Amino acid sequence: MSISRFEAISESYKRSNITHEEDGRRSELFGLNVFNAERMLQHLTKDALESVQGAIFSGTKIDRKVADQVAEAMKGWAISMGATHYTHWFQPLTGSTAEKHDAFFDLLPDGRALEKFGGRQLVQQEPDASSFPSGGIRNTFEARGYTAWDPTSPAFIYGTTLCIPTIFVSYTGEALDNKAPLLRALHAVDEAATAVAKYFDKTVTKVSATLGWEQEYFLIDKALAQSRPDIVLTGRTLLGHAAAKGQQLDDHYFGVIPSRALKFMGDLEKECTKLGIPVKTRHNEVAPNQFELAPVFEEANLAVDHNLLLMDVMEKIADKHNFKVLFHEKPFADVNGSGKHNNWSLATDTGVNLLSPGSTPMKNLQFLTFFVNTIKAVDTYEELLRSSIASASNDHRLGANEAPPTILSIFVGTQLSRVLDELEGVSQGKLSPQEKTELKLNVVGKIPEILLDNTDRNRTSPFAFTGNKFEMRGVGAKTNCAKPMTILNTIVAKQLKDFKKAVDALVDKKSLKKDEAIFNVLREYIKTSKRIRFDGDGYSADWEKEAKRRKLSNNKNTPQALKVLTSKDSLALFKSMKVMSEIEVKARHEVELEAYILHIQIEGRVLNELVYNTIIPTAIEYQNKLIKNVMGLKDIYGAAHKGLSEGQLTIIETIAEHLVDLKKKTDIMVDARKSANKLTDTSKKAEAYCDNVLPYFDEIRYHCDRLERLIDDQLWPLTKYHELLFIN
Ligand code: ADP
Ligand code: MG
Repeated sequence: MSISRFEAISESYKRSNITHEEDGRRSELFGLNVFNAERMLQHLTKDALESVQGAIFSGTKIDRKVADQVAEAMKGWAISMGATHYTHWFQPLTGSTAEKHDAFFDLLPDGRALEKFGGRQLVQQEPDASSFPSGGIRNTFEARGYTAWDPTSPAFIYGTTLCIPTIFVSYTGEALDNKAPLLRALHAVDEAATAVAKYFDKTVTKVSATLGWEQEYFLIDKALAQSRPDIVLTGRTLLGHAAAKGQQLDDHYFGVIPSRALKFMGDLEKECTKLGIPVKTRHNEVAPNQFELAPVFEEANLAVDHNLLLMDVMEKIADKHNFKVLFHEKPFADVNGSGKHNNWSLATDTGVNLLSPGSTPMKNLQFLTFFVNTIKAVDTYEELLRSSIASASNDHRLGANEAPPTILSIFVGTQLSRVLDELEGVSQGKLSPQEKTELKLNVVGKIPEILLDNTDRNRTSPFAFTGNKFEMRGVGAKTNCAKPMTILNTIVAKQLKDFKKAVDALVDKKSLKKDEAIFNVLREYIKTSKRIRFDGDGYSADWEKEAKRRKLSNNKNTPQALKVLTSKDSLALFKSMKVMSEIEVKARHEVELEAYILHIQIEGRVLNELVYNTIIPTAIEYQNKLIKNVMGLKDIYGAAHKGLSEGQLTIIETIAEHLVDLKKKTDIMVDARKSANKLTDTSKKAEAYCDNVLPYFDEIRYHCDRLERLIDDQLWPLTKYHELLFIN
């Protein structure tokens, strides 16, 4: 152990006077370190600018000459800002980001030095990436991977490095990252949604998915965190008795932000602002030491990059403030874990939010079209959407009555439920003029323009409509939003494509008017997707039963949840939407399972070490202290000592009993781990870890936490919950 509990506590007391600069005007700092539209306008020629804008808005290719120009301009700007290096910044399947820095500086063959960064270096790089997880893709094809510039996410300077957002693909074209499939899904939803949006407005040429994430996290004093091997190695506490005071008083939620945390947030927000991350709100969360940060929403690809960048920046700034930031979904037992709500909508290039009702029946029909299609998409692919948020760490949170359950359902609120019920009653086929008027005025027309304030909230719903967007709430704090966003946008794209086909067929074959056809198809969808709508208490046991009756999936752990990824239907979906090939999907399945196994394997090892090297020795030490005391009493009082040492004797025995069980269960867990390791099939191995290894963690913890309560505080080596969780 690097630092002892008492050293750590005394370190943590010295922390309150870290200096930080005052904020200044945020607007002046915004995007200072980003090669954004404004910078491009300043630094690029007209042709180059048009070419880059074409790439951003319609995905056209940038030719080599233009790339050289852009690179030259970027380099000039970056060097003027003090940058010395550049890197392709990408999202390997590990879930975080990776970078490999190269200096701008280069030597010519004759020994002269120059600053070199051309179109070739901007557009493509070959990182030595052989140890990133690829789920076998690279073995299968014996291909190397390369990174390629994503012009839709602007380059930025972080520290002294120019970071260029890139995708990461194999030479045979398979995506080795999370960004490439996301971009493909966003393209698919753009295509499908634009075609449908044109029913209502011919001038729409592009639809972008929008994402506003809400990042929850814990802040722990760095020294205290370092004193806990479980936090250092696994990001969560594997042991620890609950503090006498937890979150039961609800006094942390939206309370006054502790001044140490506030200083950290000030610095963090300043850095984010310079990086163009539009951070907006900050507040305390439910658990002690838990906070949330949310930006203004952005186009989804950019929002995903900004979230990944934020997590990285947070760790660095936290370190400066002697904090450790924890993104683990359940770092502490008995208090809430951390999530990352994904607020999602679709926006047109004409400035319309397609999930926002309007002031005319036509606008509302457009709203209803996208609203109902989203519901239908989630209903059809609920299990797939659930799989996108599965991970070893999020398993601790989902369904634990503090976060949405593992069952997907949609909350739309009473007002919209009523509208959907009324639409369901519309007659089939052609509508009489009266019917149409009635529908437009009294049903569609009744949707108020502003639903935001009228939408009742249901915090237990995993997928809630909140006035002008859907909010996906099961996403874990650590998760790369690219994963749920890829699936959500793919399924909505597929659904909208099917919708358009159905509407066009009714218009062509049955000569229905366009709006009649839309009503007809929507009515059908409302009918067939009813089971996914649920406005009640998502945490209740009754819902679990009801969901089962409705045949909704309820995959409680990651190995179960991931299975659907490789089903025939899923593979066909990804292929038809051109989001992922079968090889790519199977590779991701494999990578996710491996990550699951490794996480639990590491936790199991740490737990084993803690039990044998820390808990058992401490328990024996205290037991010996008591034994010595009892023997002393016996020396003095002879047989009469029994009456005097009754308390000590009971504790000695209770410790002994816990030690017996603790050792036994730890040994069984280790054996279970060894047998799991022998399995060669990744799915079976993950299941073995889930079913045979993981369940012992809680049992082992039970004995350790009991011992913590029994043993002399001065002897207890692990920093306790009440010390970790309350920033002074
Ligand atoms: P909370 O869930 O904490 O009550 P809100 O529901 O107000 O907060 O959610 C705020 C989040 O929703 C912000 O991150 C914001 O950027 C995002 N958001 C608002 N409108 C949209 C939209 N059209 N598309 C995507 N995200 C949006
Ligand atoms: Mg929210």
